[in-house]
Amino acid sequence: RVKSATKGSAAMFNVAMEREALERMAIEQSLRQAILDKRFCCAFQPKVDIRTREIKGIEALVRLRDDDGVIQAPGTFVDLAVELGLIDELTHLVLAEITRSIDLIDAAFGAGANISINVAARQAGNFAFMQSFAAALAATGFPSRFVVEVTEDAFVAKSHFQGEILPLLRKIGVGISIDDFGIGYSSLSALADITADEIKIDRSFITDIHKRPRSQGILKAIESLSEALGMTVIAEGLETFEELAYLQAATNIRYAQGYYFSKPIFLEELKPAVHTIGSGRPRAAGREIEPA
Ligand code: C2E
Ligand code: MG
Ligand code: MG
Ligand code: MG
Repeated sequence: RVKSATKGSAAMFNVAMEREALERMAIEQSLRQAILDKRFCCAFQPKVDIRTREIKGIEALVRLRDDDGVIQAPGTFVDLAVELGLIDELTHLVLAEITRSIDLIDAAFGAGANISINVAARQAGNFAFMQSFAAALAATGFPSRFVVEVTEDAFVAKSHFQGEILPLLRKIGVGISIDDFGIGYSSLSALADITADEIKIDRSFITDIHKRPRSQGILKAIESLSEALGMTVIAEGLETFEELAYLQAATNIRYAQGYYFSKPIFLEELKPAVHTIGSGRPRAAGREIEPA
């Protein structure tokens, strides 16, 4: 009796595992197919000078178009693409879309705006991929407009990124940005050994910054260290007027990116000549904001 019950639950367990494995295979298959069909597009989110509202740069954020036209955010597929070894192709597709659309991008955001592309930490440490990516960036003819965004994890000791790959990018004029800073494994002191042009403070520190003394302290520390190291600081995920007001009143942080200024925008939604965000009389929650 006991024996057969055990057998039964083992069988049920196998059925569940099998179903899970099948579901996973279906997701993998649809991701592979999406890459074959090039069913990806980018949304672009500006990095804004909080004093002048000028657009310093834009970040390309990849999106997947399902067969049925539904748009998927990268949270649902980027990790899987990394795991399946499909991310390199995806990154080349992102660069190809930017290159193809550069006139439209420039008309909307200004030809001076730099263009950030996200690279997963695992890609960043892969010499063969980064060599081909650097070559593709150089082949655009305007490599110095690009910025590669990587998380702190790319800078861990055993990664080839800082030692061998970063010089490749520097040689062709590509900028380096540390994404999501503050939530990875590196300590503040590790920053001293990192050579990057820009540091993006993770959204978790910016949310409700005006009412969170601990985040304020961390922000100040990151800011002064970055200043000393000559890195540009960007606040990520700025959503509210109160957060902006805090940054302006209590910090020297000059750039921010977030829904407050703009959500990521698709190329087809772009209107020419909006080189500043909220120019004229910007409003938030019914209030007028005076540019400092
Ligand atoms: P990330 O590079 O840190 O990008 C910022 C994410 O925060 C984006 O999500 C953006 O839409 C979102 N965001 C921006 N402002 C706000 C805000 O004010 N509030 C909130 N709640 N969210 C905001 P998204 O587009 O879903 O991308 C998620 C992550 O996927 C990115 O985080 C990046 O790590 C990764 N990713 C995106 N595109 C690529 C790509 O082409 N290649 C690789 N390897 N990763 C990518
Ligand atoms: Mg990023
Ligand atoms: Mg980020
Ligand atoms: Mg993030």
